[in-house]
Amino acid sequence: TKRSWRERLSGNAFARGLSSLFVRHPKLDDDLLDELETTLITADVGVEASSELVEGLRKRMHKREFADAPALLAALRQALVALLKPVEQPLDVRGKQPYVVLVVGINGAGKTTTIGKLARRWRDEKRAVMLAAGDTFRAAAVEQLKTWGERNQVPVISQGQDADAASVIFDALQAARSRGTDVLIADTAGRLHTQGGLMDELGKIARVLKKIDDAAPHEVLMVIDGTTGQNAVNQVRQFRQIVGVTGLVVTKLDGTAKGGVVFALAREFGLPIRYVGLGETATDLRVFEAEAFVDGLLP
Ligand code: GDP
Repeated sequence: TKRSWRERLSGNAFARGLSSLFVRHPKLDDDLLDELETTLITADVGVEASSELVEGLRKRMHKREFADAPALLAALRQALVALLKPVEQPLDVRGKQPYVVLVVGINGAGKTTTIGKLARRWRDEKRAVMLAAGDTFRAAAVEQLKTWGERNQVPVISQGQDADAASVIFDALQAARSRGTDVLIADTAGRLHTQGGLMDELGKIARVLKKIDDAAPHEVLMVIDGTTGQNAVNQVRQFRQIVGVTGLVVTKLDGTAKGGVVFALAREFGLPIRYVGLGETATDLRVFEAEAFVDGLLP
């Protein structure tokens, strides 16, 4: 699977930027480090994280810890893994029945697709999964979820368009309890232009869930589009003011994303990165692994 991470990530701007840097500039000197910093910033690592990483390496270079560019690259790898290791915390849905996962994030981030992939993953692990169509704001979202449920024999609780999201999710948790469901995955609306409305809605969902299980939701999973660059950091910041996010999924890291945003998120929030999306099919949602991710990005 290490090779498959690399195949998916090697077209990434991060990977391409670093490869070309070390080809253009094989000599170990301060210019190389300046260019490395620029490359990291261009790949969405963020100004502060890039500067910290490079200044750490520069000190070590001046102490002559590295003999050549490959030694520097090895140290960079180590530093990048160290940055991501603390957020490598896989989601464990055992121990609660049902385990309630509330999925949040702005429209287009990949929420519905991620819910489909998660349902498939947990179903394949022989868990009983149920979906709650809590994005009642968009008719298409309810339909998308239903289609997915039918195709994979996973029940979907919905109340049609304009229903109250908290009521849908409350009903779903009751149904999940009575049917012995293992994991309930609840979709939610993702509008950010009415932040007050979204805050009220997510707040109400959390309150009604607690009426049934005061530990629910057990996970608030925020889905973020990896192609949105530093904006992803702002999105997480905004959502954290609305709801207690407990884990992240970064999607679309195949394709045109600059994988650096994962480092920026790890440094800024320290929130667990549960999964990354490396493609559109069900098996393209990977449990996040710091080493596999970094090795996929490096030349
Ligand atoms: P939602 O509005 O947040 O529910 O977003 P959707 O789940 O509808 O996803 C928006 C688009 O992103 C769809 O075309 C998905 O196929 C695509 N998408 C989601 N995750 C990934 C991923 O990991 N990689 C790629 N390449 N596309 C993805």
